Amino acid sequence: MNVAIIVAAGSGTRFGSSVPKQFLEINGKPLLIHTLERFEFCPAIDEIILVLPAEEIEDFQSITRKFNLKKLSKIVSGGAVRAASVFKGLKEIDSELAEIVAVHDGARPLVTTEEITKTIEMARQAGAACLVASVTDTIKEIADGKIIATIDRAKLRRALTPQCFRYEILKRAFAENEIGEAVTDECFLVENLGYEIAAVEGSARNIKVTTPEDFVLAESLLRQAQIENV
Ligand code: C5P
Repeated sequence: MNVAIIVAAGSGTRFGSSVPKQFLEINGKPLLIHTLERFEFCPAIDEIILVLPAEEIEDFQSITRKFNLKKLSKIVSGGAVRAASVFKGLKEIDSELAEIVAVHDGARPLVTTEEITKTIEMARQAGAACLVASVTDTIKEIADGKIIATIDRAKLRRALTPQCFRYEILKRAFAENEIGEAVTDECFLVENLGYEIAAVEGSARNIKVTTPEDFVLAESLLRQAQIENV
């Protein structure tokens, strides 16, 4: 059984809107419903656990009822940092049945069925897999306001989501690491255990909606995806 943990319990301070961004509608549907539907309609996913801020659970529950999300089994409250939210979702998984856990940002509504399936399949083979995208800008290391190094961008990738793991590996990663603000993805925890993580090349379209500018871009990309049926 493959379980998706979708985390959407961030405070959204960088977005700056009074309405939580997951409730804002794109093409007639809340942003987070777009993300949930990507997993609902992916045959490789059996169950979805959603993590939300405690105060939004009730309102969002009534929204989800309108969208017939059959795989959505639980909505739980998040933690103070992203990794704490993922950990709360992980604790809800039935350990007897779980094979692969796919952790995904609620703020990434443009992930495709193909990307989810490829990353899960790679995690099944390798134990852990991360969807990545290439870097198009030249990246500089800065200290005291000055450039001190240029990093070869051909070697760099941006870590997207989903990040997929065999259940036992992710469970161990959380048991054996400290969780804090510096843990910005789950691969970091699994890297610390010494596991190799397969990189699965994904599309730059799979943006994380963080700012109002991202929202405008997501609106346009989702409209295009609807036309192209991807
Ligand atoms: O903060 P960041 O941009 O890395 O957030 C990525 C995802 O993690 C977002 O979907 C956000 O809602 C989620 N998150 C969470 N709990 C937190 C912080 C972030 O579920 N405490």
